[in-house]
Amino acid sequence: MKLNHHSKSCQIIINKKITNFENQATQRTADTTPDSISSGEENLKTNYFIKKISSDCKLARELHEASLQSHWYIEQPKETVDKRLVKLKKQQKNQKVVVLDLDETLIYHKNDQTKIRPYCKQFLERLSKICTLVLFTAAKIEHATNMLKLIDPNKQYFKSVCTLDNMIGKVKDLRIFSTDLKDIVIVDNSPQNFIAQINNGLPILPFEGQNDDNQLEELLSYLEDLLLVEDVRVELAKTFKLQQFYKQLNGKQAINKLYI
Ligand SMILES: [Mg+2]
Repeated sequence: MKLNHHSKSCQIIINKKITNFENQATQRTADTTPDSISSGEENLKTNYFIKKISSDCKLARELHEASLQSHWYIEQPKETVDKRLVKLKKQQKNQKVVVLDLDETLIYHKNDQTKIRPYCKQFLERLSKICTLVLFTAAKIEHATNMLKLIDPNKQYFKSVCTLDNMIGKVKDLRIFSTDLKDIVIVDNSPQNFIAQINNGLPILPFEGQNDDNQLEELLSYLEDLLLVEDVRVELAKTFKLQQFYKQLNGKQAINKLYI
């Protein structure tokens, strides 16, 4: 599977970008063959996602730290995990589970103002049909309840909601779901949250209210493919290589070395 395998809707956006790029490139005119367009398109597809990650130094640094921490992470005993077990409502057999972070992943909340990330509704609507969706926030239940009124007012998307009380220390340990780890993926803008199972982690750029943000649209395309594989950890490790980040001097260097 490619790093960024686009759905049809995303393909339209990419094609538009290619068209704009070609319009601006004065040197490329009549000699542009269909072959050269398609090879350029491949590069753009891959670079599009990578460039966004590498342009966010904070996320690169956090990924590096999380990689290091995951190597030193001491797994909590089963008894501790058992105390926080979460039963997923109506989970369909063999269906994969996607655990979504709330703040800066689906919404941006500051000074009592909340902005919902662009494409959030379509993202949740589509995903809830092809997997079991769980909301997992490091915030308190009151905050989660208030935000759910905005993003899931009819309670149709999330099968379960987890909060600070379900965390083990500062970590969202996926063992609390009793789901086979090959079937569960956690999307979070803070890599620290998934150090207990770093190969189940799918990082996303933080949302801070930008109107032109399209990370959820990008992510949906990727997830649609990821949910079809046998073991998500194998695919995520291949794509994001988070386990190897710590071997580099810092996050930026890791991205340059591992992604490009
Ligand atoms: Mg967050």
